[in-house]
Amino acid sequence: MIRYKTKDEIEIMRESCLLVGKAHAAAAAFIKPGITTQQVNDLVEEFILDNKATPSFKNYHGFPAATCISMNEAVVHGFPGSHVLKDGDIISLDIGVYKNGFHGDSAYTYAIGEISEEVKQLLRVTKASLYLGIEKARAGNRIGDIANAIQEYTEKKHGYGVVRELVGHGLGRDLHEDPQVPNYGKRGSGAKLKEGMVLAIEPMINMGVKEVVHLSDGWTILTKDRKPSAHFEHDVHITKGDPDILSSFEEIETAEKANPNLTWSYS
Ligand code: MG
Ligand code: MG
Repeated sequence: MIRYKTKDEIEIMRESCLLVGKAHAAAAAFIKPGITTQQVNDLVEEFILDNKATPSFKNYHGFPAATCISMNEAVVHGFPGSHVLKDGDIISLDIGVYKNGFHGDSAYTYAIGEISEEVKQLLRVTKASLYLGIEKARAGNRIGDIANAIQEYTEKKHGYGVVRELVGHGLGRDLHEDPQVPNYGKRGSGAKLKEGMVLAIEPMINMGVKEVVHLSDGWTILTKDRKPSAHFEHDVHITKGDPDILSSFEEIETAEKANPNLTWSYS
């Protein structure tokens, strides 16, 4: 069942979604070689609690941490620990917050130090595909229009693997609501988009094959060929006009550019 949000609910959600961006920006200012993924997680968790919110992911179906931290060949659902960040790593950070009865959910992949041109291109294409999907997130279109835009660009044009097992979702009072939002599919297929829907659109794109495997830790999902994977996610409110992006990368990008330990190619 799809739950449509009122205008008042959208404004409450916007606060949760923007808070996720601020939590990301705090991480973006902090990430550097030599620190552990646990330290990144703890900084984000404290930031969320300081802002009178709770981390959505902690204990969600038993998930063991406040944030999902997935390194390099990890696609999603990695969790923090003693892993030490080093030059050349990419780190996908997925953060959810729950505040005033609604969730915000956003992911961003950071590049530590110098990364190869090949990996830069993966990040560039994955991030661009998110905005191509968002462009289709308008009342009257269908879920498949978003899905197809992402797949065409990443898989057909750039030859990357689009993960099939993991998809975006509706967002609201629950972290995962209907409908599912795949990153692959046929134009004109799936549920019709209507005003008041909020969708978490989140391409998970592999440099190599689309297949994934589950690590024995019970959570982490890796690429089958162990090539890197990237993940970017925004929360989008469907309107009759332009897509209304409730989350924001603005503060993340500002912090990222200011942090000499992070590399991002804007070319
Ligand atoms: Mg997420
Ligand atoms: Mg999500």
